[in-house]
Amino acid sequence: MLRTSLVLPCYLAISVFAYAQTPASNPLAPYISEDAPVIALEHVELIDGTGGPATSDKTIVIDHGKIAAVGPSASMAVPAGAKVLELQGHTVYPGLVGMHEHLFYSEPTSSTLHGLVAGELVDTAPRLYLAAGVTTARTTGSIAPYTDLNIKKDIDAGKVPGPELDVTGPYLEGNPPLIPQMHILTGPEEARKMVDFWVGEGATSWKAYMHISPVELKAAIAEVHARGEKITGHLCSVGFTAAADMGIDDLEHGIAVDTEFTPGRKEGECPDNAAAYMAEHVEMDSTPVMTMIHELVQRHVAVTSTLAVLESLDPGHPPMEFMLRERDSMPPTVWSGVLTTRSMIQERAAKSYWQVLFKKEMQFEREFVAAGGLLMTGCDPTAYGAVLPGFGDERNLELLVEAGFTSEQAIAIATRNGAEYLGRADRIGTIAAGKQADLVVVNGDVAKDITAVERVETVFKNGLGFDSHKLMESVRGMVGLR
Ligand SMILES: [Zn+2]
Repeated sequence: MLRTSLVLPCYLAISVFAYAQTPASNPLAPYISEDAPVIALEHVELIDGTGGPATSDKTIVIDHGKIAAVGPSASMAVPAGAKVLELQGHTVYPGLVGMHEHLFYSEPTSSTLHGLVAGELVDTAPRLYLAAGVTTARTTGSIAPYTDLNIKKDIDAGKVPGPELDVTGPYLEGNPPLIPQMHILTGPEEARKMVDFWVGEGATSWKAYMHISPVELKAAIAEVHARGEKITGHLCSVGFTAAADMGIDDLEHGIAVDTEFTPGRKEGECPDNAAAYMAEHVEMDSTPVMTMIHELVQRHVAVTSTLAVLESLDPGHPPMEFMLRERDSMPPTVWSGVLTTRSMIQERAAKSYWQVLFKKEMQFEREFVAAGGLLMTGCDPTAYGAVLPGFGDERNLELLVEAGFTSEQAIAIATRNGAEYLGRADRIGTIAAGKQADLVVVNGDVAKDITAVERVETVFKNGLGFDSHKLMESVRGMVGLR
């Protein structure tokens, strides 16, 4: 009821803003620091996104939105008239390809009658992603698909800053839905109809959710593939091996959510003790797990690592120092909601299985990559609000390194691998001549210290340099509200 009373003032506010804007001004101008047509980034530490070792003292030339040349600063000829940026002490890596980047956010104070409710972060999420270096983002399950599609249109038209969006259709969910904003599928025919309709509306990717039935999932996969798109799943009622056999393209979160090892479970059932059982009884180097991994690799099923959101369920994590920047982006009420849930998790620490499960997830991801699997990553700004767009992407990189990957491998997981999955590796995901100039400039040596990814300065998207600090400043105190 409270919400309806807000409708009228909102419309009024929109019309006020519409009049306040000068039509001729570039709405992106307040956030742009570099817009010269030709720019040379000189003396940088380069992590090119291929996973190979970082190289020192490189120059990258950007020419009209594309990378024109990459080479040693000592021998590279910088084109006459280029704007030269002296970047000693800075690392440059490719724009991140975020593969689990919702535009919504689960409100820490959710409905007591209907459970988790998600608020759409129309203003802040796109800016936070871009500020953290995410230049391409799959929304991986939409709560408000028309909103996501309209935000994409505005970003593409240069009206608002944000990453290039791959908008995922509304969740394909069965009964009961985890979030009341989700539609409940009533059978395979409806799954097909839903895919068909939203492909027509502009959705370019798909996500099956926890309670989808096996027949609905099968139908959805067939329809998505018939429309030339891909489908991922955060599954529970269907195990990883079964989903791979059906032809799913990607699995979210990793083994932490796989239910196939829970004793007594029937296909189509979502057991509530799967995670606890996994933590206590399933070993990552055991034959059943290795068989599942090989099945995924053989069928080219990717896995999206979402360590940041899993970590937030582990008592005492993420470290408070990491969360201070997040705090500054939120209004006090939202921050206090986050702290309340964090202390509830802490109080139950003795009984929590998350610490063990989190370590197992990290081991699974290492085994999956070692077996030849395509691991991607995304921030999944959900759970109880401790993981925010952009911040979560930075945290993922740190956690991938904690999991045992090198900084360069972590960057490749967050850039090239997503680009490969999306079929855009010829254009984005790595730094090489001819590629789109999507580049992240950070202060520090990322190869030696992964926490330098928290110090993003400039994010080039299509050659246009956005000032990360200005983007962050523009959302201060608003994250969690809109
Ligand atoms: Zn998600």
